[in-house]
Amino acid sequence: MKNKLHIGVLALQGDFAEHIQKLQGLGCSTTEIRLADQLNNIDGLIIPGGESTTNAKLEAAVGKTPIFDAITKTAKQGLPIWGTCMGSILLAKDIEGSIQGRIGLMDITVRRNAFGPQRASAEILLSIPVIGEKIFPGIFIRAPLFIKAAKSVEVLSSIEEGFVMAREGNLLATAFHPEMTEDDRVHKYFLSIAREK
Ligand code: GLN
Repeated sequence: MKNKLHIGVLALQGDFAEHIQKLQGLGCSTTEIRLADQLNNIDGLIIPGGESTTNAKLEAAVGKTPIFDAITKTAKQGLPIWGTCMGSILLAKDIEGSIQGRIGLMDITVRRNAFGPQRASAEILLSIPVIGEKIFPGIFIRAPLFIKAAKSVEVLSSIEEGFVMAREGNLLATAFHPEMTEDDRVHKYFLSIAREK
């Protein structure tokens, strides 16, 4: 088992700095990922919150090799990848009613901005049995909702309208932002997946 994990955080746009701070607080070393060859030698990748349409446009502009293709390749080799909010949208195979660019690896359907502008930002108390009994404060910011999943997907947390956390093998998605709370149990859960590798 690895002692010190080295985790990459996609840093095209969005709240990558908050993830990096959290990861360093948990004893990981980190790299801001902008180019395809930076994906070598990391134990896991986080795709942060931000704006999915902007990231889809930026990805082709940043390096010679589009980073989304390289992420797909390393994911297929088993790299653990966790998408938070926008990151979950980029990971989803299906974005309801949209043909916007994506990485498209996880067999879920997401509905963007599902909580509407009137609830653009809210804290919802979540039950996430896989991290323990204690309720987790879920921060939702113009968040998506997961509305469909293939059988291969394990739903890890649900609310009335749909589900908000799911895992499919080496892929993890949260509609909310665990990097914005004091509670570090979802980060620890992802690190446990990275350690399994
Ligand atoms: N609404 C954004 C999108 O659709 C996601 C918001 C977020 O990541 N906080 O890309």
